[in-house]
Amino acid sequence: MMRLDKYLAEMGVGTRQEVKKQIRQGKAAVNGTVVKAADTKIDETSDEVTICGRNISYVSYEYYMLNKPAGVVSATEDRRDTTVIDLIKEKKRKDLFPVGRLDKDTEGLLLITNDGDLAHRLLAPKKHVDKVYYAKVIGIVTEEDVERFAQGIDIGTDEEEMTRPAQLDILKSGEESEIRLTIHEGKFHQVKRMFQAVKKEVTYLKRERMGTLCLDEDLKPGEYRLLTEEEIENVR
Ligand code: URA
Repeated sequence: MMRLDKYLAEMGVGTRQEVKKQIRQGKAAVNGTVVKAADTKIDETSDEVTICGRNISYVSYEYYMLNKPAGVVSATEDRRDTTVIDLIKEKKRKDLFPVGRLDKDTEGLLLITNDGDLAHRLLAPKKHVDKVYYAKVIGIVTEEDVERFAQGIDIGTDEEEMTRPAQLDILKSGEESEIRLTIHEGKFHQVKRMFQAVKKEVTYLKRERMGTLCLDEDLKPGEYRLLTEEEIENVR
């Protein structure tokens, strides 16, 4: 149960003050009856709420899969840069956040939701949810690099900071190599720092998968879609 003004404000009808005014003016109805009290208790699972005759259904959780483009930041607010939340135009909820972070220049799979429990399950260090990245790297990636990544590598600057064993697949080796890397944790700038540790530079990075959730190949950078019921169940 929740107050009518909160319900309408959360569903983006207006600010709390604006919706209070609309309610006072008799524009809101609950189950077909006009109500003028902003504190009217609403059962968001069964009551039918309208504003000016328009049905406003309640959405508690939203789940979006975004193909993050380069140049936007994985934050909810930023004074200078566009955030990944700014890209989601049809959002109903105002409390959406990205599950984990990708660097500003990294592309690919980012889950955006307001479901804190689900985010926690995906990010909890103990769960070791695997993350798969595709990268372009300057320099020839060798079998020795594969071996070192498989054993875990020190990416620390001052103090030792070992990564867990990671799987490196060489897709193309040359002046500019292409690789796929599977890691089981999410340290700050992890992929870039792993390659730095073997004296190579990542020039393009894209996340393709996080646990069971795969980036939809139909989504171009900047595009997004709702998760399917099945995808939501699988990440749970
Ligand atoms: N590793 C990085 O270095 N950057 C990312 O954005 C993600 C993983």
